[in-house]
Amino acid sequence: MDYLLTAKGKLELETLLKGRSLYAFDFDGTLAKIVREHHAAKLSRPIRFWLEELAKRAPTAIISGRSVEDLRARVGTVVPHLIGNHGSEGPHTRQEDMQQVRETSGAWLQSINERFQDELTRSGVVVENKSYSLSFHYRTVDQRDEARALIARIVGELSPPPRIVLGKSVVNVMPPTASHKGTALLEYMRRLDCSTALYVGDDETDEDVFALRDHRILTVRVGKKNGSSARYFLKKQAEITEMLRLIVEGGNQNIHTWSGCHEHGANLPVQRPNE
Ligand SMILES: [Mg+2]
Repeated sequence: MDYLLTAKGKLELETLLKGRSLYAFDFDGTLAKIVREHHAAKLSRPIRFWLEELAKRAPTAIISGRSVEDLRARVGTVVPHLIGNHGSEGPHTRQEDMQQVRETSGAWLQSINERFQDELTRSGVVVENKSYSLSFHYRTVDQRDEARALIARIVGELSPPPRIVLGKSVVNVMPPTASHKGTALLEYMRRLDCSTALYVGDDETDEDVFALRDHRILTVRVGKKNGSSARYFLKKQAEITEMLRLIVEGGNQNIHTWSGCHEHGANLPVQRPNE
């Protein structure tokens, strides 16, 4: 893993600017700072600004564990392509497949409510219904070991057995047939006619993209981690601002960069935000 904000990393970003690239990002811990209360996560002003500038010029997407509806409320119309539920929710998935995933997730929730409601309430673990997947949150729980043991017991009894992805103080369970972030990114590259892509994420579900080890995708992890399949890392979430600025300003320096990249794809002047 190499640090992105070096001469070598900047060259990689410049290479992306030479072709038609998709710029895709995870949300929590990547575009938005991780916060104690899951519902309080939002884009900072500079990140919103640079993301909007990028989206005016090139195809951009957010691929998050949140539902599309939840993302829409936080991002608005800044980014045109929002993909939810770890890659399984969006216009790229077939209606019948979505329906099946939804039914599985709904049946799990019903059985959890019937059998474990009291224990969940006592432990402080919150089960979030994301329609196409479930998330067990324990960020605000004091007895974390007990919470994890309870979640493991519940998840172990779900049928069919889910795909489990561990996050930061959250355990996500997805129906086994649901598509993941890696398949979603590849599908969006195809749909948007992009030959290369950037993907930035910070968590276990993002490894589904990193582990593709697809040479067309520049993979960046927020936070260096042993064992991650990402090629590059950023030292901290706040460096996303600098990365976005480099992409937008780097693209603006080359008159050919944005042409054909986007329906609005012209060289647009940038008015810097008052940071
Ligand atoms: Mg994340």
